[in-house]
Amino acid sequence: MNILNLSGKKYFVTGGSRGIGAAIVKYLAEQGASVGFTFSSNEAKAHELVKTLPGEGHFCVKMDVSDEANVDAVVTDVLQRFQSVDGVVNNAGITKDQLLLRMKSEDFQSVMQTNLNGVFYITKAFSKSMLKARRGVFVNISSVIGSTGNSGQTNYAASKGGLEAFTKSVALELASRGIRANCVAPGYIKSDMTATLSEEQTQKFADSIPLARAGESFEVASAVAFLLSDAASYITGQTLHVNGGMYLN
Ligand code: NDP
Repeated sequence: MNILNLSGKKYFVTGGSRGIGAAIVKYLAEQGASVGFTFSSNEAKAHELVKTLPGEGHFCVKMDVSDEANVDAVVTDVLQRFQSVDGVVNNAGITKDQLLLRMKSEDFQSVMQTNLNGVFYITKAFSKSMLKARRGVFVNISSVIGSTGNSGQTNYAASKGGLEAFTKSVALELASRGIRANCVAPGYIKSDMTATLSEEQTQKFADSIPLARAGESFEVASAVAFLLSDAASYITGQTLHVNGGMYLN
């Protein structure tokens, strides 16, 4: 039996054009789901990904998660295409690292705006249709940094810590209507985002991972697929850490 059977399910993933988001899109399609996903700048990559996906009903749309009006318009369009959505993965996220004393206010705010406010806009917009359907699942991509904090990432850590608290509150608020909300918190995963880290930061991460390697995007994707699936039907308000043991809570 395939416990992750997602045949016939329809999912929406933000930031699916590359990195972890692209791996999530691919993994869900491989499990039989139809997937709609967003890109913000990498349009060509996003369309290329759609072409390679197995199954039917996949599409990509341009969306800026930090722009509430744009989110509302795209969610309306997605709901028209899909009729209803079984689950939403809030994956899009950015970093703008700097030590506290040198961090510009706009860099603090833009990370919060994309990583936290953006999830609020998406969750609110999709909740309306999920509440009517009395079912739905949110999986929000947090980070180990939301639990540990990190020097040079006050903005990012605050956005991810806030995201986990937000997710618990959504879980409590919507549970009685059959809607679940959880986080997946990756550790150090190979992607464009981690490629920008300095050699010193990369070494620091590598030294702190008991499984002694960086994670692969598909290893995050499989955790996301589990939480979206009926195999996780009694799990809500939780954070699933996918980090090779670098943080044990
Ligand atoms: P990448 O930088 O590789 O990809 C980021 C994705 O987000 C892209 O698809 C990008 O779209 C999209 N995006 C960025 N800004 C916006 C926006 N304003 N509106 C809509 N989409 C946007 O990141 P990762 O794949 O590494 O990270 C994915 C998630 O995982 C993030 O939430 C990140 O915080 C989290 N994470 C990553 C870890 C890692 O080690 N890589 C560790 C812990 C957490 P486009 O391609 O069009 O620019």
